[in-house]
Amino acid sequence: MSFVIPAVPQVSLPVVGSSDRFPVRRVYCVGRNYVEHAKEMGFTGREPPFFFLKPADAIVVVNAGETALVPYPVLTKDYQHEIEMVVAIGSGGKNIKAADAHKHIYGYGVGLDMTRRDLQAEQKKLGRPWCIGKAFDHAAPCGPITPVAQAGDVANADIAIQVNGKDRQRSNLSKLIWNIGETIEHISNAWELQPGDLIYSGTPEGVAAVVAGDTLVGTVTGLTSISVKII
Ligand code: MN
Repeated sequence: MSFVIPAVPQVSLPVVGSSDRFPVRRVYCVGRNYVEHAKEMGFTGREPPFFFLKPADAIVVVNAGETALVPYPVLTKDYQHEIEMVVAIGSGGKNIKAADAHKHIYGYGVGLDMTRRDLQAEQKKLGRPWCIGKAFDHAAPCGPITPVAQAGDVANADIAIQVNGKDRQRSNLSKLIWNIGETIEHISNAWELQPGDLIYSGTPEGVAAVVAGDTLVGTVTGLTSISVKII
Protein backbone atom coordinates (compact mmCIF):
# COMPACT_ATOMS: atom_id res chain seq x y z
CA MET A 1 0.00 0.00 0.00
CA SER A 2 1.17 3.52 -0.63
CA PHE A 3 -0.09 6.87 0.64
CA VAL A 4 -1.17 9.93 -1.34
CA ILE A 5 0.93 12.15 0.95
CA PRO A 6 3.94 11.24 3.12
CA ALA A 7 2.84 9.16 6.14
CA VAL A 8 3.67 10.41 9.63
CA PRO A 9 6.79 8.68 10.96
CA GLN A 10 6.42 6.73 14.22
CA VAL A 11 7.63 8.79 17.19
CA SER A 12 9.75 6.65 19.53
CA LEU A 13 11.98 6.90 22.58
CA PRO A 14 15.20 5.06 23.41
CA VAL A 15 14.98 2.28 26.01
CA VAL A 16 17.66 1.95 28.69
CA GLY A 17 19.60 -1.30 28.24
CA SER A 18 18.15 -2.09 24.81
CA SER A 19 18.72 -1.16 21.19
CA ASP A 20 14.96 -1.48 20.60
CA ARG A 21 12.81 1.62 21.04
CA PHE A 22 9.51 2.50 22.72
CA PRO A 23 6.92 3.61 20.11
CA VAL A 24 4.73 6.49 21.32
CA ARG A 25 0.99 6.57 20.69
CA ARG A 26 -0.65 9.26 22.89
CA VAL A 27 0.70 11.67 25.49
CA TYR A 28 -1.67 12.09 28.45
CA CYS A 29 -0.85 14.76 31.03
CA VAL A 30 -2.20 15.15 34.58
CA GLY A 31 -3.03 18.68 35.73
CA ARG A 32 -2.17 20.05 39.20
CA ASN A 33 -1.05 16.77 40.80
CA TYR A 34 1.16 18.17 43.60
CA VAL A 35 -0.42 20.22 46.41
CA GLU A 36 2.23 22.98 46.43
CA HIS A 37 2.00 23.40 42.65
CA ALA A 38 -1.81 23.53 42.83
CA LYS A 39 -1.41 26.32 45.40
CA GLU A 40 1.02 28.33 43.24
CA MET A 41 -1.55 28.06 40.42
CA GLY A 42 -4.21 29.49 42.74
CA PHE A 43 -6.00 26.30 43.78
CA THR A 44 -6.21 24.38 47.05
CA GLY A 45 -7.36 20.97 48.18
CA ARG A 46 -7.71 17.59 46.51
CA GLU A 47 -9.81 18.02 43.41
CA PRO A 48 -10.69 15.12 41.10
CA PRO A 49 -7.81 14.53 38.67
CA PHE A 50 -8.07 16.13 35.26
CA PHE A 51 -6.19 15.51 32.06
CA PHE A 52 -5.09 17.04 28.80
CA LEU A 53 -3.18 15.63 25.85
CA LYS A 54 -0.20 16.64 23.80
CA PRO A 55 0.32 15.30 20.28
CA ALA A 56 2.95 12.53 20.06
CA ASP A 57 4.90 14.60 17.57
CA ALA A 58 5.37 17.33 20.22
CA ILE A 59 7.94 15.00 21.77
CA VAL A 60 11.55 16.08 21.57
CA VAL A 61 13.71 12.98 22.07
CA VAL A 62 16.43 13.62 24.63
CA ASN A 63 19.15 10.97 24.35
CA ALA A 64 21.21 9.87 27.36
CA GLY A 65 24.30 12.01 27.82
CA GLU A 66 23.26 14.53 25.17
CA THR A 67 21.74 18.01 25.34
CA ALA A 68 18.71 18.31 23.08
CA LEU A 69 18.01 21.66 21.43
CA VAL A 70 14.49 23.04 21.89
CA PRO A 71 13.39 26.14 19.98
CA TYR A 72 11.80 28.96 22.03
CA PRO A 73 8.18 28.83 20.82
CA VAL A 74 6.31 31.58 19.01
CA LEU A 75 3.46 33.70 20.49
CA THR A 76 4.63 33.59 24.13
CA LYS A 77 6.48 35.86 26.53
CA ASP A 78 6.18 33.40 29.44
CA TYR A 79 7.57 30.01 28.41
CA GLN A 80 7.80 27.80 31.50
CA HIS A 81 9.30 24.44 32.51
CA GLU A 82 7.38 21.70 34.32
CA ILE A 83 9.54 18.74 35.30
CA GLU A 84 7.53 15.50 35.35
CA MET A 85 7.98 11.78 35.78
CA VAL A 86 6.61 10.01 32.71
CA VAL A 87 4.90 6.60 32.79
CA ALA A 88 5.23 4.44 29.67
CA ILE A 89 2.30 2.06 29.16
CA GLY A 90 3.24 -1.44 27.96
CA SER A 91 -0.19 -3.08 27.86
CA GLY A 92 -3.52 -1.36 27.45
CA GLY A 93 -6.91 -1.66 29.00
CA LYS A 94 -9.99 0.16 30.23
CA ASN A 95 -11.37 0.45 33.75
CA ILE A 96 -8.01 -0.63 35.19
CA LYS A 97 -8.05 -0.74 38.99
CA ALA A 98 -5.29 1.17 40.77
CA ALA A 99 -4.14 -2.06 42.40
CA ASP A 100 -3.63 -3.67 38.97
CA ALA A 101 -2.10 -0.64 37.30
CA HIS A 102 1.50 -1.82 37.75
CA LYS A 103 0.81 -4.72 35.35
CA HIS A 104 0.27 -2.19 32.55
CA ILE A 105 3.47 -0.16 33.03
CA TYR A 106 6.45 -0.84 30.77
CA GLY A 107 8.76 1.73 32.32
CA TYR A 108 9.41 5.32 33.32
CA GLY A 109 11.20 8.37 31.98
CA VAL A 110 11.91 12.01 32.73
CA GLY A 111 9.94 14.58 30.78
CA LEU A 112 9.24 18.28 30.48
CA ASP A 113 5.69 19.60 30.11
CA MET A 114 6.77 22.86 28.49
CA THR A 115 4.05 25.48 28.75
CA ARG A 116 3.23 28.82 27.13
CA ARG A 117 1.90 30.02 30.49
CA ASP A 118 0.56 33.36 29.28
CA LEU A 119 -1.49 31.69 26.56
CA GLN A 120 -2.70 28.96 28.96
CA ALA A 121 -3.76 31.63 31.49
CA GLU A 122 -5.68 33.52 28.79
CA GLN A 123 -7.51 30.35 27.69
CA LYS A 124 -8.32 29.47 31.32
CA LYS A 125 -9.82 32.91 31.84
CA LEU A 126 -11.93 32.56 28.70
CA GLY A 127 -12.96 28.98 29.53
CA ARG A 128 -11.32 27.73 26.35
CA PRO A 129 -9.16 24.62 25.73
CA TRP A 130 -5.49 24.72 26.75
CA CYS A 131 -4.14 23.41 23.43
CA ILE A 132 -2.34 26.58 22.45
CA GLY A 133 -0.65 26.77 25.85
CA LYS A 134 0.22 23.10 26.22
CA ALA A 135 0.08 21.18 22.94
CA PHE A 136 2.35 23.23 20.69
CA ASP A 137 5.31 21.95 18.64
CA HIS A 138 8.31 20.70 20.71
CA ALA A 139 6.23 20.99 23.94
CA ALA A 140 7.12 17.55 25.30
CA PRO A 141 10.85 16.82 25.65
CA CYS A 142 11.30 13.28 27.01
CA GLY A 143 14.26 11.12 27.90
CA PRO A 144 14.91 7.38 27.57
CA ILE A 145 12.46 4.90 29.09
CA THR A 146 13.83 2.73 31.91
CA PRO A 147 12.02 -0.63 32.16
CA VAL A 148 10.21 -1.10 35.49
CA ALA A 149 12.58 -3.82 36.75
CA GLN A 150 15.57 -1.44 36.49
CA ALA A 151 13.84 1.72 37.67
CA GLY A 152 13.92 1.24 41.45
CA ASP A 153 11.34 2.74 43.78
CA VAL A 154 9.90 5.41 41.50
CA ALA A 155 6.94 6.05 43.84
CA ASN A 156 9.39 7.54 46.36
CA ALA A 157 11.95 9.02 43.98
CA ASP A 158 13.22 12.59 44.16
CA ILE A 159 12.32 14.80 41.20
CA ALA A 160 14.15 18.01 40.34
CA ILE A 161 15.10 20.46 37.64
CA GLN A 162 18.02 22.84 37.51
CA VAL A 163 18.19 25.78 35.14
CA ASN A 164 21.75 26.93 34.40
CA GLY A 165 22.92 24.88 37.39
CA LYS A 166 20.45 26.35 39.91
CA ASP A 167 17.57 24.45 41.51
CA ARG A 168 14.12 25.52 40.25
CA GLN A 169 11.90 22.59 41.23
CA ARG A 170 12.67 19.89 43.79
CA SER A 171 10.21 17.44 45.32
CA ASN A 172 9.45 13.74 45.69
CA LEU A 173 7.06 11.47 43.81
CA SER A 174 5.51 10.45 47.16
CA LYS A 175 3.89 13.91 47.13
CA LEU A 176 1.71 13.19 44.10
CA ILE A 177 -1.93 13.91 44.98
CA TRP A 178 -3.07 11.08 42.71
CA ASN A 179 -0.42 8.37 42.64
CA ILE A 180 0.49 6.43 39.50
CA GLY A 181 -1.99 3.62 40.12
CA GLU A 182 -4.85 6.02 40.82
CA THR A 183 -3.91 8.09 37.77
CA ILE A 184 -3.99 5.03 35.50
CA GLU A 185 -7.36 4.05 37.01
CA HIS A 186 -8.83 7.48 36.26
CA ILE A 187 -7.41 7.76 32.73
CA SER A 188 -8.51 4.23 31.81
CA ASN A 189 -12.04 5.04 33.00
CA ALA A 190 -12.16 7.82 30.42
CA TRP A 191 -10.12 6.35 27.54
CA GLU A 192 -8.92 2.88 26.63
CA LEU A 193 -5.20 2.93 27.32
CA GLN A 194 -3.02 1.34 24.64
CA PRO A 195 0.59 0.16 24.49
CA GLY A 196 2.75 3.16 23.66
CA ASP A 197 0.75 5.68 25.65
CA LEU A 198 2.75 8.03 27.85
CA ILE A 199 1.45 9.69 31.01
CA TYR A 200 3.08 12.90 32.22
CA SER A 201 2.27 12.59 35.93
CA GLY A 202 2.26 16.26 36.94
CA THR A 203 4.76 18.81 38.18
CA PRO A 204 5.76 19.99 41.66
CA GLU A 205 5.96 23.63 42.75
CA GLY A 206 8.54 26.05 41.36
CA VAL A 207 7.47 26.36 37.73
CA ALA A 208 9.10 29.41 36.16
CA ALA A 209 10.07 30.99 32.87
CA VAL A 210 13.06 30.14 30.72
CA VAL A 211 14.68 32.10 27.91
CA ALA A 212 16.83 31.28 24.90
CA GLY A 213 20.29 30.20 26.05
CA ASP A 214 19.07 28.49 29.22
CA THR A 215 20.10 24.88 29.89
CA LEU A 216 17.62 22.69 31.79
CA VAL A 217 18.66 19.49 33.53
CA GLY A 218 15.85 17.27 34.79
CA THR A 219 16.29 14.33 37.14
CA VAL A 220 14.25 11.60 38.78
CA THR A 221 16.23 9.27 41.05
CA GLY A 222 16.74 5.91 39.36
CA LEU A 223 15.94 7.16 35.85
CA THR A 224 18.06 8.65 33.06
CA SER A 225 18.45 12.43 33.47
CA ILE A 226 17.62 14.79 30.64
CA SER A 227 19.40 17.91 29.43
CA VAL A 228 17.79 20.48 27.16
CA LYS A 229 19.00 23.81 25.81
CA ILE A 230 16.54 26.50 24.72
CA ILE A 231 17.60 28.12 21.45
MN1 MN B 1 2.23 19.55 33.76
